Amino acid sequence: MTLIKTEALVLHSIPFQESSSIVRIFTREQGKISVIAKGARRLKSSLRGLLEPLNHLEVIYYFKSTRDIQTLSKVDLIRSFLTSATDIETDIWGLALLETVDHVVQNHQYDHEIFDLAVAFLAQMDDHPELVQLIYIRFLLALTKTLGYRIGVDNCARCQRKLTAAIYDPENAQLICCECGKYFPPESRLNERELAFLKNRKDVNADSSIRKSRLVNILIHYLSYHLDIRLKLKSLQILPEISI
Ligand SMILES: [Zn+2]
Repeated sequence: MTLIKTEALVLHSIPFQESSSIVRIFTREQGKISVIAKGARRLKSSLRGLLEPLNHLEVIYYFKSTRDIQTLSKVDLIRSFLTSATDIETDIWGLALLETVDHVVQNHQYDHEIFDLAVAFLAQMDDHPELVQLIYIRFLLALTKTLGYRIGVDNCARCQRKLTAAIYDPENAQLICCECGKYFPPESRLNERELAFLKNRKDVNADSSIRKSRLVNILIHYLSYHLDIRLKLKSLQILPEISI
């Protein structure tokens, strides 16, 4: 049995027995693991309130490779990304980010990179709640790049022509030029501003010509296709404009 100390993000927490919780955490050192937090729901427990999604923690736990669930020993809060109850939208997109991570991290590949990415983007959301949806789109773009599936935004995936506007081809999950995609319905089209937003990785300003929900839908579809997973985000289902 080894004692492990690492940073972690809380993904999910469920009550267990009378006063304990079983918590799924994404750790920087060991990827996704489950821990039992004994007595965490007792009124006087030092763990109370800490094991909630959107908390960035430092955790210490006993690790035994033969066990599915490890035993949590100590928790310190590094930062809470949970906003006040009046700003539910920021939390929704923060939870969507965590859910995306939860779906995407299947093994211990890229754990450090994805962990740092998640923390950095959650911090951005917390600092700029007015840009939260755009920051989520930026996160998805960065995630596809980290996973090795960067979306081709410069040239048509079929004829290689330089893209100015583009069509998203859902059958092959790629961007193609308007000529190659002329038989696709008009709603498949991304306008110049939307494409420019995808190209410029630092731009977080957007005017009304950028349909943010449309970009979210496309990138979620893109990730699901290339990772061969069904990325259905419960946290976004209450938003009518998101079709995933
Ligand atoms: Zn083309």
